[in-house]
Amino acid sequence: MAARKYSRQRESIKDFLATRKDHPTADMVYQNVRRQNPNISLGTVYRNLTLLAESGEINRLNMGDGVDHFDADTSPHYHLLCTKCGKVVDLEMESIESITDTAAAVFDGHVAGHVTYFYGTCCECTKPEGLP
Ligand code: ZN
Ligand code: MN
Repeated sequence: MAARKYSRQRESIKDFLATRKDHPTADMVYQNVRRQNPNISLGTVYRNLTLLAESGEINRLNMGDGVDHFDADTSPHYHLLCTKCGKVVDLEMESIESITDTAAAVFDGHVAGHVTYFYGTCCECTKPEGLP
């Protein structure tokens, strides 16, 4: 049945994401999930990622690099985009939620929230050339 197959594919996408800490793009998800599901299309992967993000089961990250990244960890946390290799890394840092209040203090309208991401170079890309 189509509905069941659909759901199984969605589960395999979710399972794959849960094993990854590097916030893969839809294409990376597709390249991996198709090993177990050779008939799956990139469009199906993208549709399922969108469904999962809309239902709050995963997070969709817009890091300003033109592609969406996906995260199975839906707890509030911050991210850094490596501008060299394109990887997205979790940042363990204190909440900066209070900047919404800072903005609200200088704005007569309503400030509902903010979106923050960091960019730089990841540990691997910061290593000097030639070192392992
Ligand atoms: Zn990097
Ligand atoms: Mn994350």
